[in-house]
Amino acid sequence: MAKRDNRLRREEKTILAMIRIYCRGHHRHKKESLCPECQELLAYAERRLDKCPFGSDKPTCAQCAVHCYKADIRRQVRQVMQYAGPRMIWRHPYLAIMHLLNQWNTKKTQG
Ligand SMILES: [Zn+2]
Repeated sequence: MAKRDNRLRREEKTILAMIRIYCRGHHRHKKESLCPECQELLAYAERRLDKCPFGSDKPTCAQCAVHCYKADIRRQVRQVMQYAGPRMIWRHPYLAIMHLLNQWNTKKTQG
């Protein structure tokens, strides 16, 4: 397992940070942890990243040609990103920029 790569780690961190922001804003979850619903979403996202066939060559999920997310989950993730995206700039500027958030909103929306 040479480098189970920075890229994926970063993407994991990004999605965690975003779900946290979203959860706190929408579900009024007080602790550092996530509510069960958001935890499930995160777990799903992490499983997808683990199984990603592109490994370290992976584009960000938003740009990826393989739509491995189920449609309804994708919708959920998109909501999270739309909400958390602008807020990420303040809390996690590095992650936010690296992730190229807009991709989620501007790519094809069907699915
Ligand atoms: Zn939540």
